[in-house]
Amino acid sequence: MNTAKFTLLFVLATSLGFAATLDTNCYWKAGVASTVITPQTNMWMSGYAARKSPSHGTAQNLFAKALALEDEKGTRLVIVTLDLIGVVPTLRQSVEKQVMERYKVPPQFLVMNASHTHCGPEYRGSKPEAPKYHAFLEERLPHLIGEALSKLAPAQLLYAHARCGFSMNRRRNYSLSPTDPNAKKAPNPDGPVDQNVPVLMVQSPGTNLCAVLFGYACHNTTLSSVSMTGKVHRYEFNGDYAGFAQETLQAGRPGLTAMFMMGCGADQNPYPRHYMIPYVKPLEFAQHHGKTLAYSVEAAMASHVRPVRGPLRGAFEYITLEREQKDPKKPVPGRQYPVQVVHFGDDLILVTLGAEVVVDYSLRLKRELGGKAVVWVAGYSNEYGGYIPSLRVLKEGGYEAPDYKPDIEERIVGKVLELNRRLTK
Ligand SMILES: [Zn+2]
Repeated sequence: MNTAKFTLLFVLATSLGFAATLDTNCYWKAGVASTVITPQTNMWMSGYAARKSPSHGTAQNLFAKALALEDEKGTRLVIVTLDLIGVVPTLRQSVEKQVMERYKVPPQFLVMNASHTHCGPEYRGSKPEAPKYHAFLEERLPHLIGEALSKLAPAQLLYAHARCGFSMNRRRNYSLSPTDPNAKKAPNPDGPVDQNVPVLMVQSPGTNLCAVLFGYACHNTTLSSVSMTGKVHRYEFNGDYAGFAQETLQAGRPGLTAMFMMGCGADQNPYPRHYMIPYVKPLEFAQHHGKTLAYSVEAAMASHVRPVRGPLRGAFEYITLEREQKDPKKPVPGRQYPVQVVHFGDDLILVTLGAEVVVDYSLRLKRELGGKAVVWVAGYSNEYGGYIPSLRVLKEGGYEAPDYKPDIEERIVGKVLELNRRLTK
């Protein structure tokens, strides 16, 4: 073992808290950048229609973060995570175009994921300040990506995973009474969940861990629009549990950039939440869940850590999702929906799906794509606008089941499998 490799192994062992023998070759270059995107003025907030006024200050800063990776052949991938409600199509299109023009990173190698915090700004539509904030993101995000790319330096990628237990299926009443029009969301301890916490670590030689990308499939909605009294609205910007998980990891590891990638959590909620326990304030729930998730990431990093190698291969396409046409005189336009698959050699398959995806997609794709490679499925990526039900959820009806045609699941899964086959050849 040469000195450089020995040094890296030593740093790995001390910074991650384990001493396994790892392949210490640096197959990658990596760069990471982070910027505060908390609005500088009070704005209407996104996620809860019940709010009656714009924000009143900030409980925690919101961030945009970019991880740039380059494999041994020079292929580059950029992953952007955002403490925002979603990635609206106009933002994706603008950033994608600029990143292609300036940095020659094509769409299949640009991932944009939102944490779905309901305590961030509303930047769609005509609310005051929304167009201005959209323009701010259009300008700021390409700059952030450029900064991450400018920092590319030798690095190693490692994968590990653990579990975290505060997510729970929230469709009890729909599952029990599919035909009840008055059914409301309720915790369902027997419903499907995906409590896996995938973790991608970026380790540079001679440094501590420099970036950690981690995922979880659970609505980022510990905080409701109302507090435990039922009267006081939540008006402070913050990243909810995902924001506090990132903050906890970074506080414990100076120099680390922690990035959260939302999974297929559309029908999952963090429990307990809102006002469920009279003596706990909602913000304390968010901080508590954030710490719990951060500690799961730490547990992952102390468990079975394996190297992730290249080369990068990527595919990105839009498919059309069709809605049921109830009135023959009123045709319903199809929805353009993004599907992305990125291969990290034979070690990791990253699948990203647009909008609010229910957990069935994550569970099914991991089953159907699983083999030698680890499969990581993210929702809330590259597009935002409504729920994406599985066939099961569509049949049950309820909150997460807008009237798509029954082939929606097969269209999405079929496209993922097709792209995956294309990359495997
Ligand atoms: Zn949602």
